[in-house]
Amino acid sequence: MATPRAPRHFDDAVSATVSDPGKSGFFFDFDGTIAPIMRDPEAVLPVAGVMECLRELTKLVGRVAVVSARPAAFLSDRFARLPGVRLFGLYGMQTVIDGRVHTDAEVAPWAPVMRRLAADAARELPGDVLVQDASLMVSLHYRAAPALRGAVERWSSGKAAELGLVEQFGRMVVELRPPVGRDKGTIVAAEIAPLTSAWYFGDDLSDGRAFDALRLRERRDPAFTGVAVAVANGETGDELARAADFTLDSPDETAAMLNDVIRAFPGARI
Ligand SMILES: [Mg+2]
Repeated sequence: MATPRAPRHFDDAVSATVSDPGKSGFFFDFDGTIAPIMRDPEAVLPVAGVMECLRELTKLVGRVAVVSARPAAFLSDRFARLPGVRLFGLYGMQTVIDGRVHTDAEVAPWAPVMRRLAADAARELPGDVLVQDASLMVSLHYRAAPALRGAVERWSSGKAAELGLVEQFGRMVVELRPPVGRDKGTIVAAEIAPLTSAWYFGDDLSDGRAFDALRLRERRDPAFTGVAVAVANGETGDELARAADFTLDSPDETAAMLNDVIRAFPGARI
């Protein structure tokens, strides 16, 4: 996690964005950040108001993106009405370009391994563990039975070591994916290259990589303004909040903060 630096003030962060909007960007995790966490991951929709904010931001700033562990097809479905929002799924292994899902060529050879892994998980883990097979990533949700955490993590770590997979711990979930060198940090680092300011909103441990990417850019380029916003929750602990410039209490507050930012733009329609 990034080293703390002097606190950023909200008004300074906003004015860095408003003064050079074409070179500003807003990046969002999905679950727990702009959408609630639910028992059934397939039922999740963005919180009220956030879509309008994202739509307005696409007109105001140079780059708006969602960076998620979700498959790109899921994101594509949720954000179909917002073609200006760039979508990165499965930690950047998939992207949506002009409405079509593109999967990284490096990942394809791992498909049979991931298929076998999903089948093993469904067979070997207790029935209360929800095995989500995103074909190139397998998520093991134990939200229905939090006491199974130890068993799930042991099983997952064994498989990660055996098959050479990347393991990501999250909110009542462990994800396994191919070792192709993508995470939220690599995506954000690449996406912010042409920008002079960027905001990243996240709620989980994997979002710390994106915070780190903002901090690294700031150290290399002191003129760059990186704004890290954590959406707090009891499940992640305070590690992410400690690394953030601002901490919000829920996805609803993400929409409220975006409204405050948008209102600072001359001519904004919110
Ligand atoms: Mg999240």
